[in-house]
Amino acid sequence: MVSSKQESAVVTGAASGIGREAALALARRGAAVALLDRDGAKARALADEIVRAGGRAIAATADVADSAQVKAAIDAAVTAHEGLDTVVAAAGIALTGSVLQMAEADWHRTIAVNLTGPYLTARHAMPHLLERGGGSYVAISSDAGIRGSMGFAAYCASKHAVVGLVRCLALDHGHQGIRSNAVCPSFVDTPMADQLLADDNVPEKSFYERRVPLGRFAQAAEVARVILHLTSAEASYTNGMFYVIDGGTTAGTYTAAPA
Ligand code: NAP
Repeated sequence: MVSSKQESAVVTGAASGIGREAALALARRGAAVALLDRDGAKARALADEIVRAGGRAIAATADVADSAQVKAAIDAAVTAHEGLDTVVAAAGIALTGSVLQMAEADWHRTIAVNLTGPYLTARHAMPHLLERGGGSYVAISSDAGIRGSMGFAAYCASKHAVVGLVRCLALDHGHQGIRSNAVCPSFVDTPMADQLLADDNVPEKSFYERRVPLGRFAQAAEVARVILHLTSAEASYTNGMFYVIDGGTTAGTYTAAPA
């Protein structure tokens, strides 16, 4: 999949959490990384950090729901890093509410960022991966992409759809040497989780931890290691799959006794 040239990778949502750790892990693997985020300053700070450590990185301010911005950022990455091999679509938002509680605008924004974002990322990356003769695409779905979650109607719908998108990408482009997969984490210690837990309507962290057989949230670096695997030659026969990394949460019904 990765040619003899230096690997070139694009990561969306790279300024924070899982995207940030994925970008750092890819840079440590030797990839030249392009960091896309709506928070361009934070993405640039991370790119500077990677360059100071001896790597190659550029950053772009881009809203993944905006086709022109995504295209411009991916094209810039291809020019700067002479092609494209690896794409990680990590940008996402988590807005809560049942269909009755949630404002229609929040529904549309969730779908725009969490589903149209990975679609636009694929749409503008695929021509470059094809030009390279192959590559790999990973989108971050969620355990909410394979089961429902009370009070997360839009988020669950968007994440289920990401699994569908990835399966179709796998069917449409597998024969061209492009592997597409999804990663489905459950609870990950990131700013997104912190923000959700700060909501008065959301239970305390220990409530969720008691539903994880491993008894804790994942670290973003643990999810990044799965992304690294899926985008590597180690996963050369993995296409159209969703990789659940959830400490056993979705294996069955589990609730630890209160401490
Ligand atoms: P995070 O720490 O909030 O990082 C997400 C990054 O994406 C942030 O920098 C965010 O910017 C950026 N972003 C949001 N909307 C964007 C847009 N429209 N265009 C470009 N960038 C945008 O969240 P995370 O926990 O790492 O989440 C990464 C992915 O994993 C998401 O798709 C999320 O749904 C998924 N996930 C997370 C968990 C979890 O428990 N944390 C579990 C399962 C799946 P702002 O900070 O400005 O919003």
